[in-house]
Amino acid sequence: MNLILLGPPGAGKGTQAKRLESRYGLVQLSTGDMLRALVTKGDTLSQEAKSIMDSGKLMPDALMVRMISDRIDEPDCAGGFILDGFPRTVPQAQALDDMLDLKKLKLHAVIEMKVEDDALVERIVGRFTCAKCGEGYHDRFKRTAVDGVCDVCGHTEFKRRADDTETTVRTRLENYHKQTAPILPYYEQHGTLRQVNGMAAIEEVTQQIEAILHPA
Ligand code: ADP
Ligand code: ZN
Repeated sequence: MNLILLGPPGAGKGTQAKRLESRYGLVQLSTGDMLRALVTKGDTLSQEAKSIMDSGKLMPDALMVRMISDRIDEPDCAGGFILDGFPRTVPQAQALDDMLDLKKLKLHAVIEMKVEDDALVERIVGRFTCAKCGEGYHDRFKRTAVDGVCDVCGHTEFKRRADDTETTVRTRLENYHKQTAPILPYYEQHGTLRQVNGMAAIEEVTQQIEAILHPA
């Protein structure tokens, strides 16, 4: 099963992808995480990538497509994958279709997570992840059970993304509405687009997605 989770930053794509990963044995492919891993390398290319990301702008389409194509070829993706944060533009969506055709792979569903802009800012500014296992948390919506200790692995260090600030979030939301929202009609025409209400609680959103994956 190959899925795309679409939606603005903070919609809950990463949160849902992690849950689907463990329930269905899928691999989450987060282009954001892949890029953030790349920029820790510190060479010239990675410095350039870092400055683009810190400003809230998008990476060149060709780079993103190559990164995803290479990743899909790795053996762990054979059981299916969840694209989280990709495609971001109509050219990327078209390139993805061509790439999947060549690899003889199909998309089972493209799921749009709808959330209002004001809620997104609140979610993004309050989010953090475990520095060791990557589990996602939120200052208000998903605190750790014990203050300062990861529920999953017990680690006591956490990370906040450099671009999760109110100003950058506004730029990222503008980019989403201008450049990414136009891919919704693209998938609508191809008959693969489904929607869930991302304003609901985390478990409810998972149930809406499962209803799409397993129609009664
Ligand atoms: P995305 O991957 O789409 O950018 P995340 O999965 O990182 O979004 O979610 C952003 C923040 O909002 C995280 O801190 C997460 O814990 C929180 N969150 C995710 N889904 C919900 C939800 N349905 N209700 C409330 N908070 C949520
Ligand atoms: Zn952890």
